[in-house]
Amino acid sequence: MINANTVLKLAVQKSGRLHDDSMKLLKECGIDITNGVNKLKSEASNFPLEVFFLRDDDIPQYIEDAVADIGFVGENVVYEKNKNVQVEHKLGFGKCRLSIAVDKNETYDGVQYLQGKRIATSYPLILNDFLQKNNVTAEIHEISGSVEIAPGIGLAHAICDLVSSGSTLFMNGLKEAETILQSQAVLIRNKDLDEAQQTILDKLLFRIQAVKKAKNNKYILLNAPEEKLGEIIALLPGMKSPTVTPLAEKGWHSVHSVLSEDTFWDIIEKLKNAGAQGILVIPIEKMII
Ligand code: ATP
Ligand code: MG
Repeated sequence: MINANTVLKLAVQKSGRLHDDSMKLLKECGIDITNGVNKLKSEASNFPLEVFFLRDDDIPQYIEDAVADIGFVGENVVYEKNKNVQVEHKLGFGKCRLSIAVDKNETYDGVQYLQGKRIATSYPLILNDFLQKNNVTAEIHEISGSVEIAPGIGLAHAICDLVSSGSTLFMNGLKEAETILQSQAVLIRNKDLDEAQQTILDKLLFRIQAVKKAKNNKYILLNAPEEKLGEIIALLPGMKSPTVTPLAEKGWHSVHSVLSEDTFWDIIEKLKNAGAQGILVIPIEKMII
């Protein structure tokens, strides 16, 4: 039972790379947030949730202090801020990596290259950990933004910054030398939620998982000739087993199943080769197992 007065407080990025995907995820979970872009907070109309819009750097601290109960934030920020919060769930968006990059004309032959060098970064804690683990001593120069220009202006020999496509590095004459962290948005939580708050969080996690599962799976329908039915069914995993119904045309069956994104193309090809026809692929909106 949810205590009627309890509302879970969620912190999301006010604007920036994680904002839109965070709001989209809530929407896909069936949670209506009235437009709060210029407000500090906003309440859901159909779920016991209040959303705080904050700078991503501040989210872990707010959660440690229980100003907010949970938050959507990049793993990179969670590890750098090193607050007393718990990572509860990976959200599957905001994917990037924290990498060391050097001038594209340099010969990078391993971490020892960094010995005695100066490295500019907004992630001094994570970088320091990485250097220590690799027994490298380097000077960490902390800057808060535009890290990629540091080598060009003579501020540093190397940088440690977030990369997704690599185009920013390329435009600044840099090349990626070493990946030190793979990151994506995660749901973090305060460690001491009460029972009512935990119940709301469980409900939210249940919905998030259903949305994520649905995105990773596709519903497929196909027609199979009688003599090939066994071979085709054997190729399909399905949630239990595929649904098979006879078609009006004698000797043919309609087969329905669910395929996961990672094996999808491989299985479709095999199905086609096995004699499946009229294959339809349909997105799934929610998936509850
Ligand atoms: P804020 O104003 O909230 O402090 P910000 O400028 O620090 O915003 P953004 O650039 O909006 O942050 O990035 C937010 C998060 O998005 C990053 O911490 C990271 O987890 C994720 N992200 C995904 N791809 C990238 C990328 N290519 N570069 C930077 N961050 C990325
Ligand atoms: Mg920030």
